[in-house]
Amino acid sequence: MTATPTAAELDAADPLAPLRDAFHLPGELYLVGNSLGALPKSGPEYITTEFERWATLGVEGHFTGELAWQDYHTLVTDQLARLVGAGHDEVVAMNGLTVNLHLLMISFYRPTPERHKVLIEAHAFPSDHFAAESQIRQRGFDPAESLITLAPRSGEETLRGDDILSAIAAHGDELALIMLPGVQYYTGQVMPMAAITRAGHAAGAVVGFDLAHAIGNIELDLHEWNVDFAAWCSYKYLNSGPGGVAGAYVHRRHVADPSLPKLLGWWGTNTSTRFEMTTEFDAIPTVESWQLSNAPVLAMAALRASLDLFDEAGGIAALRAKSERQIGFFDRRLTEVLGDRVINITPTALEERGCQFALRVAAGDGKRVYEELEAARVLCDWREPDVIRVAPVPLYNSFADIERFIEILDGIVQ
Ligand SMILES: *Cc1c(COP(=O)(O)O)cnc(C)c1O
Repeated sequence: MTATPTAAELDAADPLAPLRDAFHLPGELYLVGNSLGALPKSGPEYITTEFERWATLGVEGHFTGELAWQDYHTLVTDQLARLVGAGHDEVVAMNGLTVNLHLLMISFYRPTPERHKVLIEAHAFPSDHFAAESQIRQRGFDPAESLITLAPRSGEETLRGDDILSAIAAHGDELALIMLPGVQYYTGQVMPMAAITRAGHAAGAVVGFDLAHAIGNIELDLHEWNVDFAAWCSYKYLNSGPGGVAGAYVHRRHVADPSLPKLLGWWGTNTSTRFEMTTEFDAIPTVESWQLSNAPVLAMAALRASLDLFDEAGGIAALRAKSERQIGFFDRRLTEVLGDRVINITPTALEERGCQFALRVAAGDGKRVYEELEAARVLCDWREPDVIRVAPVPLYNSFADIERFIEILDGIVQ
């Protein structure tokens, strides 16, 4: 191999390359796993198994065998825990992402007249912004006073880590909650989660992260970082399919804390007495006590298919190692072929980025470029006002995909 290997050489040397065949990849190039992960070919089998169990066992499927639906959600707990760096008792698959953000804010946003502010980013994903805003109103506060939104410096694209930390310190006494993304959906920036958590705790605030674009993309260590809570969806890098079941993490020091306010449902109560149908809530001493309803088994079956492939890949560390090689190759080819015709606004340092690139066309006709990519069946996405997002996903994208993308882009950009 030469100092600047070709895509073919890199693919030949990639031990994870065969995993690509485990996925259906629509279009000419599928580079949009940041929005909707690809379907594992095994997915329909996992779901069919549950249909068959339903057809043959009916209601007894709830309690029969290793796949008993009553405990079906626990089948993914360890796999999710490994992806976020947490313990078995700290992670649960349930609901949708925004639902989980609300459930967790009910527990972890406990404003007082002195300490009522919530820190989010100015360019937060709208759902996260709405969730924070409505939680503030629910507690009788005014978002105009209580919602702090953090924007990059003028002329800059991404938040500086130091600016986040000084904002936390500046609002210290009034700050109740910090809720930031692990990876920013627009720019692809990885937030310094450990440092933010330390600074938040030093200021007396609770710290939660939205991991929608982080889980399955970068390595996470939530427990070690002392993060209070987190939530994620699974249809992006976890390939669980549209509307797939989301997840939640709560640090061990909080999971059995009876003083935390919480919305209750029967799936949060002790499993050994749940079906006695008593109305005395006996909280499961893990994050499972946040569960409300019985698990959406069909959606979880699809998620299992994908999580098994993460295991087959050797876990997130192996995938991230490949991802870093792909990021480097993408950077190099983008510069060599497109020069300054396309600007990548994603941070350049590896520790500040995941696999997603946020590209801006220098000539200002990004929307046209995106439409021509679409016409060429290159699946990526456009985010207003002016960014094309593309993500080489190490589970199923090859180095050849990157090379081909650069080649197509070169033919479209003036
Ligand atoms: C994808 C995404 C969502 C989507 O929320 P759902 O509740 O899953 O519909 C919310 N927040 C962020 C940051 C996201 O990236």
